[in-house]
Amino acid sequence: MGETKFDVIVVGLGSMGMAAAHYLAASGKKVLGLEQFGICNDRSSHSGETRLIRKSYFEHPSYVPLLEQAYHNWDLLESRSNETLFHKTGIAYIGDPNGSILSGVLEASRQFDVPVTRRNMDFIDKPKDYEILFEPNAGYLNVPKTFEVLKRSCLKLEATLLKNQKVLSWESVGDCVEVSTENNRYLAEKLVLTAGSWIRELIPQKIDLSITRQVLAWFQNSDSSFDIPCWSLDHPEGKGIYYGFSRSDSGFKIGHHFRGESTHPDKLNREVNEEEIVHLKEVLQRLFPSQEFVFEKSATCMYTNSKDDHFILDFLPGTNQNVVFAAGFSGHGFKFVPVIGEIISDMVVRENIPVNASFLNLDRFKR
Ligand SMILES: Cc1cc2nc3c(=O)[nH]c(=O)nc-3n(C[C@H](O)[C@H](O)[C@H](O)COP(=O)(O)OP(=O)(O)OC[C@H]3O[C@@H](n4cnc5c(N)ncnc54)[C@H](O)[C@@H]3O)c2cc1C
Repeated sequence: MGETKFDVIVVGLGSMGMAAAHYLAASGKKVLGLEQFGICNDRSSHSGETRLIRKSYFEHPSYVPLLEQAYHNWDLLESRSNETLFHKTGIAYIGDPNGSILSGVLEASRQFDVPVTRRNMDFIDKPKDYEILFEPNAGYLNVPKTFEVLKRSCLKLEATLLKNQKVLSWESVGDCVEVSTENNRYLAEKLVLTAGSWIRELIPQKIDLSITRQVLAWFQNSDSSFDIPCWSLDHPEGKGIYYGFSRSDSGFKIGHHFRGESTHPDKLNREVNEEEIVHLKEVLQRLFPSQEFVFEKSATCMYTNSKDDHFILDFLPGTNQNVVFAAGFSGHGFKFVPVIGEIISDMVVRENIPVNASFLNLDRFKR
């Protein structure tokens, strides 16, 4: 097979790869995107229909400036596509006022002037010592629609997107990078690696990443007029948070944000057992006692966790700034899709990391 030359090849057309392909194509680059499965698939980290978006970021206030840009870019994606991607339902943070979540929300809100208020919500039956904070400019994102919009725009900008193309290896060839799949070789000036849970197969560096199995479940309720904002609830023993969504076509969705059981991305146990479903149903039922919830469906998904749960965004060492990689989104990356895509594109074009994203570089693990 002959070789075709591109400006940039993006490996992995998941959340970050699709966004990177979009912003690179928009900056005038000739882009090839390669995806091992389908575009928007249920075997990686973007399955499950919806994702929370919020700005009073308890994980670390350094993310807030990136979120400001992400919010702006979500707006642009919506207005240019005429689609609704962001459903602004608000988020209720239910938890221990002295715990890390509520304190983190208030700290980010104070530092960056993000509106957050204390609220009473009588439809929520919370533990007595818990409080509720409400962030109105938060909500959820529609994942399949986001992929649809990014794909449409990539194609309009004449990017080449190929599915069912697993990248087996890549190497530097002179000033270029050559990428091999089972049947083809492709040449480009720059390479972007956004392979999610499979990233370790594509980089020589030993980066501490753990892949974990996460479970989601959807429930229907009896009263169709009952709707709620999105919510997060401190786990009573400090094991992360439970979180849930407003009613959608598929009902009320709930998940548990913590490090689930370790897995290999090709060996993910996709069966959700009865005990896992009963457990999630109990959390929902206890929190919203006026409703009767009936199980609808479940799904599994994977987190790629970095050692400190913060994203990793950098040039791959030893590649002369020719290879950008973005990984370790640790279960909270989707809301950043349009800003990470834009930053990756900037890194490719300008060959440096923007200052507001430098806290995500690899060097932090050496300190
Ligand atoms: C259950 C769950 C709930 C979450 N909730 C939220 C939330 O509420 N809010 C939020 O902001 N974030 C949330 N996240 C996190 C967010 O979805 C992820 O951070 C994000 O999807 C990661 O994007 P990614 O591009 O790194 O990985 P992915 O979206 O998985 O994309 C990687 C892609 O690379 C492809 N690939 C891998 N190897 C190769 C190869 N060799 N050749 C070709 N293609 C390859 C894969 O098939 C895949 O499509 C959640 C994640 C999960 C699992």
